[in-house]
Amino acid sequence: MSEPKEAKRASETETLTSGQRESKQGTDGLSRRTFLEVGSAGLASAALASLAVNAQERADTEKADQDHSSSNPGPENKPLLDENPNSNLPPPTDHGHIEPIWYSFDLTTKRVEEGGWTNQVTERVLPNSKDLAGVRMRLTAGSFRELHWHTADEWSIMLYGNARVTCLNPDGTIFIGDVGKNDLWYFPAGFPHSIQGLEPDGCEFILVFDEGSFSEDNTFLLSDWVRRTPPSVLSKNFGLPTSALKNLPNRSLYIFPADLPKSLAQDKAAVGGRRAESPIEYTFKMSTMAPTQQTKSGEVRIVDSRNFLASKNIASALVIVKPGGMRELHWHPNASEWQYWIAGKGRMTVFTSEGARTMDFNSNDVGIVPAVAGHYVENLGNTDLMFLEIFKANQYMNFSLNNWLRHLPPETVTSHLNLDADTISKIPSQALDIVPG
Ligand code: MN
Ligand code: MN
Repeated sequence: MSEPKEAKRASETETLTSGQRESKQGTDGLSRRTFLEVGSAGLASAALASLAVNAQERADTEKADQDHSSSNPGPENKPLLDENPNSNLPPPTDHGHIEPIWYSFDLTTKRVEEGGWTNQVTERVLPNSKDLAGVRMRLTAGSFRELHWHTADEWSIMLYGNARVTCLNPDGTIFIGDVGKNDLWYFPAGFPHSIQGLEPDGCEFILVFDEGSFSEDNTFLLSDWVRRTPPSVLSKNFGLPTSALKNLPNRSLYIFPADLPKSLAQDKAAVGGRRAESPIEYTFKMSTMAPTQQTKSGEVRIVDSRNFLASKNIASALVIVKPGGMRELHWHPNASEWQYWIAGKGRMTVFTSEGARTMDFNSNDVGIVPAVAGHYVENLGNTDLMFLEIFKANQYMNFSLNNWLRHLPPETVTSHLNLDADTISKIPSQALDIVPG
């Protein structure tokens, strides 16, 4: 690169490092002098050039944020702006057009039935969510999510209360189990299953399906099949007189109240005991699992097909970030990431080849990170932040930026980032997942 060109770019760099919100007048001489000093330190001119461009953008945005440029004399939805200040006036490092990375279950309609309700966040409202869709459901004590099956695999985590679930295998064995808070279940596509709320107050859970366009309204219901089949055919199929079938339901049950079940032991005995018992466990006690990764600033629990064998197509991580902590800069090579925010208050920035985008998140929100996009999550509140990272994948996979930088020859990192070897050695060498604030 020729000397004059470098000098020009260096002067742009200086404009931003020294005088971000000031007038650019009078900085030229200074910047050239600074450039010569910097140049003698042997910094890579290519890196400098890109720094200069970024810094100029940042300086312009910061200036615009501070002065009258960002004022809005027109109408505003103040509550919405207060919820998501980083979307309205993004950090100056944000750039480019990235599809929305945020939605909330609290923006969706609830389908309320006697016995509970459901709502969903799918690709229809969050276009980037192509691999997975989420459904939230509440069942009061005794109430059923009707016996059914569907085209997608179903992963779930219990958020509140207790439920009894059943799932039939093609070999005729059946799984019956109870789940409590933070426990999981997994039902493969096409496998028929049921969910029933238990005492004292039923349950509430999140379901995640491995189809972005999945809809809870399009499942195969037992009640629908029997009312779409002629009584004479049902009579022949069941080996029962039609007179015995006169009380079959004539509408979709979907969610409906029922008596509480007997004990788990009694239910298992009633279906044939050990002889009929599923060899596959379709539930997983995440509530009693030790953290996969732990630092003083948080914990991560990873569940995928390696420790929950039934969970063949969905991998998950339950992440807790303490106040001030941060889920470090990282990405996942094998899938997009669908998030459910359980508790606390945070901010996520997603980096793609298009740029970067930041949004704020609160409990009951959904986040989406496009496949392989870099991202980090900061806890901005004064309570623990808890969220789920869900992937349409057989195994959880993660790349940590720190881990990468510390496993390269230091000279390679110096050439790229202008950090000396001593400074580089202070970056954590392992993927910590959660770094302190
Ligand atoms: Mn289901
Ligand atoms: Mn992630």
